[in-house]
Amino acid sequence: MKKFTLLLALLTSTLAMADRIAIIGAMDSEIKILLSEMKEVKKEERATVVFYEGKLLNKDVVVFKSGIGKVNAAMSTTIAMEEYDVNKIIFTGVAGAINKNLNITDVVISDYLVQHDYDTTIFGSKKGAVPGSVDTKFFADKQLINIAKNSAQKVLGKNKVYIGTIATGDQFIADKKAVEALETDFGAWAVEMEGAAVAHVANLYKTPIVVIRSMSDKADGSAHMNYNDFVNIAADNSAKIVMNMLLEM
Ligand code: SAH
Repeated sequence: MKKFTLLLALLTSTLAMADRIAIIGAMDSEIKILLSEMKEVKKEERATVVFYEGKLLNKDVVVFKSGIGKVNAAMSTTIAMEEYDVNKIIFTGVAGAINKNLNITDVVISDYLVQHDYDTTIFGSKKGAVPGSVDTKFFADKQLINIAKNSAQKVLGKNKVYIGTIATGDQFIADKKAVEALETDFGAWAVEMEGAAVAHVANLYKTPIVVIRSMSDKADGSAHMNYNDFVNIAADNSAKIVMNMLLEM
């Protein structure tokens, strides 16, 4: 009987440890390092999204490119939840810097995310509030935030890593006034086009998530030029942090 209890405890803990982690990027550049390191890959297409199931540093993962914007991000995350049985989500990629402390290639890890282009304020709601829900915030998981922070500090050094609010909307922000508004309205540190949509779906499925973004630009008048120069370096920074996280999970 004692032996049986021990076996059961061992089995339960093994099962509990068996994570299946979705790792999502919006663009090819954001997942290319991850795909090149994957083993035992099984590739499948659903609604034009290609899902790569397999092992990354011995962890069970499903890696995919969501495509750009909130609809692509939400749809592909939903497919990952329904068809690939993932129990943790990491989003990796690039973003525009909003907070003045940030330099290009620095990293912001989400504490929570907002959809900055949600606007039913005419009915008295807060800016960014999703009608029917109380708040504007989609929270990241504390444990994943910690693992991401430790990994980011190892990969890039302590002075390049921040935890902060990430604002998401279906716009490439390249305007100083818009940057100021995102800071005033939401206290945003970084702006991008997918994170809060993924976090929204993750929260609805009660699945832990974290978003990691390395800055490709400063979301100002020269954002499109900086973006082109730095997108690959920033995308690789973020992917390397994810690889490091897998060693700690
Ligand atoms: N290269 C694409 C456009 C990329 S859109 C094209 O040629 O059409 C920008 C991507 O990087 C999005 O996935 C978004 O999440 C992120 N991003 C980086 N800087 C951003 C900014 N300033 N504003 C919004 N999204 C930004």
